[in-house]
Amino acid sequence: MDTKLQPAIVIHGGAWAIPDNFAEASKLGVQIAAKIGYKILHSGGSALDAVEAAVCSLEDDPVFDAGRGSTLNEIGEVEMDAVIMEGSELRAGSVAAVQNIRNPVKLARLVMERTDHCVLVGKGANMFAEEMGIEEVSVDSLVTDSARHDWEHYKKFKVTVNEFFCSRGDPHDTVGAVAVDCHGNVACATSTGGITAKRVGRVGDSPIIGSGAYCDNNYGAASATGHGENIMKVTLSRHVLYLIQQGLTPQAAADKSIEYMFERVKGTGGVIVVGNKGDIGYNFNTKRMAWASLKCNTLKYGLNPGDEFVSDFNP
Ligand code: ASP
Repeated sequence: MDTKLQPAIVIHGGAWAIPDNFAEASKLGVQIAAKIGYKILHSGGSALDAVEAAVCSLEDDPVFDAGRGSTLNEIGEVEMDAVIMEGSELRAGSVAAVQNIRNPVKLARLVMERTDHCVLVGKGANMFAEEMGIEEVSVDSLVTDSARHDWEHYKKFKVTVNEFFCSRGDPHDTVGAVAVDCHGNVACATSTGGITAKRVGRVGDSPIIGSGAYCDNNYGAASATGHGENIMKVTLSRHVLYLIQQGLTPQAAADKSIEYMFERVKGTGGVIVVGNKGDIGYNFNTKRMAWASLKCNTLKYGLNPGDEFVSDFNP
């Protein structure tokens, strides 16, 4: 491994009121994703490849609200959002309200690398996927029993927001990853099925550059989760980087940005952060957030406020 800088990765599996019966699966899923991304970083791979691979594994894990496991909108369809960004030239790609795609984060990366655009939505995003030879998958292969159950239960968006974020919740968690590689390049990615029973065409914060994710090699990388409408109002991920630019550590920037979102718009959610030197930060003001980090072969993870389980990982 190139030892110029110790690479680091942080993962989130969504900030919500995650119920006990999904707690273990959520903790496991974020650890697996962290290990997948870290292996890439440890062998000298790029932060961009690491966050993409980590988010793909979370999209494939049905416990999370992204890819397989996505929530259903008000008419029972799946519309997914994803973003990816790299911090060297500030290139970004995102897709919104895309359907029948197994890994939206891969499509977001293709938008970044193969088009002159940053964001493609709906029909246009699906047409581009077809052009890129991405296989269309059936809705049934993306929908889990639990997502269908939630949809039947919560048809009204406002009820969903209150109940999922604040008091109770079913396990539908947006996913995200931030990383710095041994060359000092940072990257971030976020992917989601959104919020159960959302309006058709509703786009949350996740694919909005600066809200659901942002990165810059000069400062670091951030990925957000939570109530998208409030995250957008404070451009949460860009706000984290602004605070680092003002001299705060990644952890202090995570703490302050979540406080700021609550003070300004009563927003609930969470954020993960990595600084360009590999310092890690995370915070959330929901009941729980599944998170994991890996740096210097040390894996840390947690779910409840104050949790920090530690173990060794040799890639
Ligand atoms: N931020 C996502 C959205 O509003 C949901 C989440 O993070 O759980 O679409």
